[in-house]
Amino acid sequence: MARRKKIYEGKAKILYEGPEPGTLVQYFKDDATAFNAEKRATIEGKGVLNNRLSEFFMTGLSNIGVPNHFIKRLNMREQLIRQVEIIPLEVIVRNFAAGSMAKRLGLEEGTPLPRPIVEFSYKDDALGDPLVPEEYIIAFGWASQQDMDDIVALALRVNDFLTGVMFGVGIKLVDFKIEIGRIWDNDYMRLIVADEISPDSCRLWDIETGQKLDKDVFRRDLGNLTDAYTEVARRLGVLPSNVTHAAKPHVIN
Ligand code: UDP
Repeated sequence: MARRKKIYEGKAKILYEGPEPGTLVQYFKDDATAFNAEKRATIEGKGVLNNRLSEFFMTGLSNIGVPNHFIKRLNMREQLIRQVEIIPLEVIVRNFAAGSMAKRLGLEEGTPLPRPIVEFSYKDDALGDPLVPEEYIIAFGWASQQDMDDIVALALRVNDFLTGVMFGVGIKLVDFKIEIGRIWDNDYMRLIVADEISPDSCRLWDIETGQKLDKDVFRRDLGNLTDAYTEVARRLGVLPSNVTHAAKPHVIN
């Protein structure tokens, strides 16, 4: 069905031209990748869940005044978003050591950090998204010092919001990744949260049991990823009514 122009296809999403200038349609695929796309799978229902979950988080952010790209959900797998110029950085916020940080510093996963730590990776699949200091970012002109101050402020607001929302449903926000985009209102440039916020880009642990409810389930072969994401959606009250998994009891391996 050639109904619109594909602008970009990534690992988990496709961007199509939107109905009006300055808008795009973001389509959530069922594809999952890990370890710089060395591990791949199609996980039925993941795209539907992430579409809903990203809508939920972005709408919540809008409601507390954190600007982001979300306009409205269009259907089970698609949402209308503002077109942005993506800053080529993965902005990572960590509350507890895990993943690459735990490995790099020899810390046990789950070690609380003295304060939230914001770090940046340069988005380049061929290089494996290397960690970069702010010095590089400014020197290479990917963002200015003012942009970086604004990005850190945005990232910490997202962290406080997500931490609180997840705590309310018995989930610990260990870390997450966001991406930031530029938009122009006439000559005035603003930075807004873009891409997605979903269990694909967060580490979410059950507060009581420590059970992982995020993409590590796929990365580390810990069970059924759709069941884990369904559990997050169920707790947040954002289950799509017509996902078959939603009707099943939640047995997570
Ligand atoms: N993350 C992501 N995309 C990436 C790399 C990391 O969404 O390309 C997220 C990841 O899910 C985790 C956080 O960023 O919530 C920190 O990831 P980390 O640096 O520990 O890397 P990983 O161990 O996932 O390779």
